[in-house]
Amino acid sequence: MKIGVDLGGSHIGFALVNNKNKIIEKIEIPIEKHKNIEHDILNIIDFYINKFKEKNKIELIGIAGPGNPNTEELNINNIVNLGIEKLNFKEIFEKYKIKIDIKNDAKSAGIAEFKYGALKPYKDAVFLCLGTGIGSAVFLNGKELKNKKNNGFELGHMIIQKDGNICNCGKRGCFETYCSIKRFKDKTKDILNLEDVSSEEILEKIKENIKDNKINNLIEEFINNLIIGLSNIIDIFEPEAICFGGSFVFFKEIFYEKLVEEMNLRKYKFNKDSMPDILLSEFKNDAGLIGAVIVDKNKKK
Ligand SMILES: [Zn+2]
Repeated sequence: MKIGVDLGGSHIGFALVNNKNKIIEKIEIPIEKHKNIEHDILNIIDFYINKFKEKNKIELIGIAGPGNPNTEELNINNIVNLGIEKLNFKEIFEKYKIKIDIKNDAKSAGIAEFKYGALKPYKDAVFLCLGTGIGSAVFLNGKELKNKKNNGFELGHMIIQKDGNICNCGKRGCFETYCSIKRFKDKTKDILNLEDVSSEEILEKIKENIKDNKINNLIEEFINNLIIGLSNIIDIFEPEAICFGGSFVFFKEIFYEKLVEEMNLRKYKFNKDSMPDILLSEFKNDAGLIGAVIVDKNKKK
């Protein structure tokens, strides 16, 4: 049995995963954003690993988190969307004496889809996780692309608008400042005067107001920006498939058909043979948890 931990922008997920990479049991704990967030996150992780560990024989703890992971030093750096510079797991993990693996969260979800999910039939593929920001993983020739320094292949931080929206990374005009689901939800809330509402309520309100011009324009703008990002990705990597994960999947009825239709209409702009299949995550919110416990045999050194 393995324990998967997925540290997201608003929740931490914990799962017991069997050796066939199936989730046996899972829980989700909300993250309260305040000044002791680092301390709290580490405490929550410690508590639930202990809880799961008591009942089962655990051979691996895999943790997926936003930012740049460092498995040797057992930390994750630059978690910009939570405002955390460094989360170090050394103290809590050393006492368990269990093998630890740390991955970037979007890469973790991407690996789960590539090995066992929606991207399984493909060798060249891109996974995009649209949520608080945009995380990504790129696979070519059946392998995840990796570099020596940091994560790399951070497609959410490619600039799609000169002097555009300010991004948490410090640049302006990044893809994620236009196409993260957080941005889409914030804009929807502004237009419809909503406060403190869940994603379910936002989706309901959008459907009720689907004929509203402002909502229509917002969806159109979102898809146009998404296509700018996708066309760059297609030109650079020529993937056979692009798979969307994160909360994009929750809003699929608003975006998915429109996106595919629009991309087909604009086919002439891409090299015709380069049009990839556009897919949705099979494991949805569980992708990060499943990917966290998949051990990469080609570890970078
Ligand atoms: Zn950025």
